[in-house]
Amino acid sequence: MAKRMLSEAEGYELFQKYGVPTPAFQIVTGADEAAEAASEIGYPVVMKIISPQIVHKSDAGGVIVGISGAEEAKKAFNGIVASAKEYNPDAEIHGVIVEEMAKPGLELILGGKTDPAFGKVITFGMGGTLVELMKDVTLRILPVHESEIRTMVKEINAYPLISGYRGMKPRDEESLIAIITGVARFFEENPNVMEFDINPLRLYESGACAVDARIIVDDDYRPVGRKQRKLVPPEYFTPRSVAVIGASSDQKKMGYAVLHNLLHFPGQIYPVNNKRTEVQGLKSYPTVTAIPNPVDLAVITVPAVHVPKVMQECGEKGIPLVVVITAGFKETGPEGKVLEDRMLEIARSYNIRIVGPNCLGLIVPPRGLDTTYVHQSPNPGNIAFISQSGAIINTVVDWSLTQDIGFSAVFSVGNQSDLDFLDYLRFVEQDKNTKAVILYVEQLTDGREFMEVVSEVARKKPVVAIKSGSSQKGQQAASSHTGSLSGSYEVYMEAFRRSGVIPVRALRGAFEAAELLAAPSGYLKGRRAIVVTNAGGFAVLSSDYADMYGIQLIDLPDEIMDELNEFLPDYWSHGNPLDLLGDASEKRFEQVFEVLARHSDLWDIAFVVGFPNLVLTSEGLAKQVIKFTEKTPNPVIGTFLGGESMDAGIKLLKEHHIPNFDELEQTFKVVGRVVWQRCRAKSIGLP
Ligand code: ADP
Ligand code: MG
Repeated sequence: MAKRMLSEAEGYELFQKYGVPTPAFQIVTGADEAAEAASEIGYPVVMKIISPQIVHKSDAGGVIVGISGAEEAKKAFNGIVASAKEYNPDAEIHGVIVEEMAKPGLELILGGKTDPAFGKVITFGMGGTLVELMKDVTLRILPVHESEIRTMVKEINAYPLISGYRGMKPRDEESLIAIITGVARFFEENPNVMEFDINPLRLYESGACAVDARIIVDDDYRPVGRKQRKLVPPEYFTPRSVAVIGASSDQKKMGYAVLHNLLHFPGQIYPVNNKRTEVQGLKSYPTVTAIPNPVDLAVITVPAVHVPKVMQECGEKGIPLVVVITAGFKETGPEGKVLEDRMLEIARSYNIRIVGPNCLGLIVPPRGLDTTYVHQSPNPGNIAFISQSGAIINTVVDWSLTQDIGFSAVFSVGNQSDLDFLDYLRFVEQDKNTKAVILYVEQLTDGREFMEVVSEVARKKPVVAIKSGSSQKGQQAASSHTGSLSGSYEVYMEAFRRSGVIPVRALRGAFEAAELLAAPSGYLKGRRAIVVTNAGGFAVLSSDYADMYGIQLIDLPDEIMDELNEFLPDYWSHGNPLDLLGDASEKRFEQVFEVLARHSDLWDIAFVVGFPNLVLTSEGLAKQVIKFTEKTPNPVIGTFLGGESMDAGIKLLKEHHIPNFDELEQTFKVVGRVVWQRCRAKSIGLP
């Protein structure tokens, strides 16, 4: 009997200890006793079935409210027991709870669950029977501060029903906060509680009352211990010599592609192949131990069954880091798990660190290192990408080549048998080439440790993350993909926010956000924005999108307005967005940018929205934007709209690391997300 549900009465008693008000109650086992209890408690009363097998009592006809006399109480007792038996003939019936009938109030839900990655999580939201329909809930990973509980209460859509809506009196928010705080403490102090809910908690103008309590305990539950961790020296990822075990000249083999991508590596490359003396024009060795010189990194592509033996040889050779590309380990089932454990054990005995298995390995473009089988190696740049999916790396790298996006490092984490997300995060944290980090996460094992590490990284460099599995289907795909269960999406989102990580939904958005943040101006410091454009239509759309995505278009301060009026034609928009009109020349943009730059303290972000015409080329506009960024510390973000005629300008912006978007809504969406996240991060003490 590992998991069991406590009765409502046990639940009430436990919650009372943590300051949760509940109705007075008695437990009865007969109709006469029910009537006696009811008169002691005082009519009207509520009666409910007590059965460990009946989770939703109303569904079983197990709840009767508004009982107002002895006869009614007796009848209710018999009725409830009969309905419950009919509903589930096997249910053990422990009696009936008779309780004080609480007056109507705003019905809220307080709940808790144990997430596989992040542990205990509390939820709060609109309760009653419509919870599933309304889905108006918010959550926090424990431990949680009272200040966070205050924010949590204000976060639900129905908050006005608490604070007072249209002449309704406000409800007792302070009692609610005290109750949530108590419930969070209850959850933390009782390690065997896996799950609970109070649905509903009735909130009044003064006070509150829990009218249901469900607690699930598991006395055998042991939280997973923290992994022993030994830091990987950063130089492990910048080897001078690389051996490819399983290197091949056969284009159909993995060992071909891997060696092929390493051919442009400036250090030493040693193909290892037990059947050949030459591979792709290079001298090949039968085993790593036969290589006469030191080897810093080995990449293994041989079939899984041979990996333990090869690992042994790597140990004998004294290789510190091994990338295991080969699949067929833990992700395939118990047999694969045994093989993976064996490989790991051998590696440990020689102090070898492992990337993978079941991965693409790593790419460090500034070093010309690529252990993967991507179609074409990516360009060097300043974004680090750490991904739990190899296929996504393949796609993203291919796409990056067409988008002029470069990488400081790309890591494919694979099964994370040894090195995991956190080791790669530690590397990119100190890596001078990395200016922003993108994570693609399917599932984490120790979410708490992840939060600690990633929040330290996010203090130094922007971190953007995509979590797969927001849909039920997605969650299934993710779990079969990695061989372990995925935690729920919302908990991850909350963990990201709490750690200062910017959650995004799409890969494109992730790169746009990362590029924006990798720009020299770094984190956005506020939401006060100015839009400058030569297109009236886009000026209007900019206002719409800014509003939609939480960007504040400021009223132009008098200082700025007066200076602009001195030289702009009378018919300019006289407001923000600054519509400089279709005949705006390079000169006009230059003058406006000069004024804005002089007053950089009055705004946080400038959007330049341009379209091509005969008066202004895209290069001309780009040149002015570049000059503008040299004169202001604030970020300047381009949206160059049009066809091929914009390419030259866009290229110039790229060369100067100025973020540019090719679709206006996307500009505001991405910037809005980043700004919102920064504001929230600040409110929880992040930089
Ligand atoms: P279920 O197991 O179906 O969730 P509940 O104990 O929540 O059963 O009871 C169903 C509904 O009956 C509650 O949502 C609430 O509206 C009402 N109710 C239950 N207990 C009381 C009570 N003591 N006072 C007033 N209403 C109650
Ligand atoms: Mg209920």
